[in-house]
Amino acid sequence: ECAERSRSAAKEKDGAQKGPALTGRLFKDLPISQRTLQGLEASQYVKMTEIQSGAIPPALFGRDILGEARTGSGKTLAFLVPVVESLYRRRWSKMDGLGAAIVSPTRELAYQIFQVLSNIGQGHELSAGCIVGGRSLEEEQKAVSEMSLLVATPGRLLQHLDESPGFDASNLLALVIDEADRIMDFGFQETMHHILGHLPSARQTLLFSATLHGSVHRLSRAALRAPEVISVHHDA
Ligand code: ADP
Ligand code: MG
Repeated sequence: ECAERSRSAAKEKDGAQKGPALTGRLFKDLPISQRTLQGLEASQYVKMTEIQSGAIPPALFGRDILGEARTGSGKTLAFLVPVVESLYRRRWSKMDGLGAAIVSPTRELAYQIFQVLSNIGQGHELSAGCIVGGRSLEEEQKAVSEMSLLVATPGRLLQHLDESPGFDASNLLALVIDEADRIMDFGFQETMHHILGHLPSARQTLLFSATLHGSVHRLSRAALRAPEVISVHHDA
């Protein structure tokens, strides 16, 4: 269901705008697995955008990331590549609980992220899902206890952390907060702080935003530890 709905969303988006500016730096020169590289190549991702070449190397090294770049600059791969690699390097399985959570402000954006993940992660045996409400909580509860990676809206993720008995986020390796400015604009401050309270502090956190205004700064201070800051300001 996630995949179906995001396919149409991706199509609309592709038609509406041209691609981002690319650097001369290549995905194949990153220290990443053949599986991920093949997934990237299958989607015709060869050269990196500026935010990707800035954020992916330190993220692969384990650093927290505070990434600022405009809409359309390629932030999705800037976090998906390191997150997928991180789970693969540790041979993460369904038995290990939740390995990574990606928080997105809206259902549509969550579906789009899930679609890109399905494409670049096709060579991995990764149990992934998106939880954005719309299905019954009970139905989702069965599924989430087996997920290694989740793409979620803030409210629904918190609901599962609070209420789903088999849902174990105590081993979580990585948290991604995407479109942090919109998450804050939509009034999810409290929700995000509760989510952070549920997660282990020894984790990697990647926060991306088009702008870093006041409430995003507060969230980043609460969520990140000594982040590498990557700001792409020109119209890349
Ligand atoms: P953002 O999250 O910053 O708004 P996206 O990650 O949604 O940007 O990417 C915007 C568009 O650029 C998408 O259509 C995506 O497929 C395309 N894109 C991203 N990275 C690359 C790349 N390295 N090479 C070619 N196209 C890319
Ligand atoms: Mg995005």
